[in-house]
Amino acid sequence: MTFEKDDKNLIIKLPLLQEGDDTYGDGKWKAQNFLFIKTWSKELDDWDYTISQGIWLDYKGDMQEGLPIIHLSEKEANEAMKVCGDNLFTVHPKCHKCGKPIYGCFTGDGEGNDICMSCEN
Ligand SMILES: [Zn+2]
Repeated sequence: MTFEKDDKNLIIKLPLLQEGDDTYGDGKWKAQNFLFIKTWSKELDDWDYTISQGIWLDYKGDMQEGLPIIHLSEKEANEAMKVCGDNLFTVHPKCHKCGKPIYGCFTGDGEGNDICMSCEN
């Protein structure tokens, strides 16, 4: 990430790609550097939109979500996805029972509502 400033704006540049050496083998990998995340926030009682660090797990061939880099409004998130594409867009829905965001696996209550695994058990 680099920072620049002109007369009117702070300009933050996020590299589109990250790259590294293969864990197993002699090759190199390249992967998207960030993810668009929509997470239910119990504290805000609303959706929280972020651009978060993408952590490429080359040994699994999979992307892991890292920490948020920038928080956005819904409008800003939609504009950013128009520019970058929404192929790495992830949603963490709201648990219908406890109201917390759901990360990873979840189930339903049979009435179309998402339920976290803690509430199911
Ligand atoms: Zn729950």
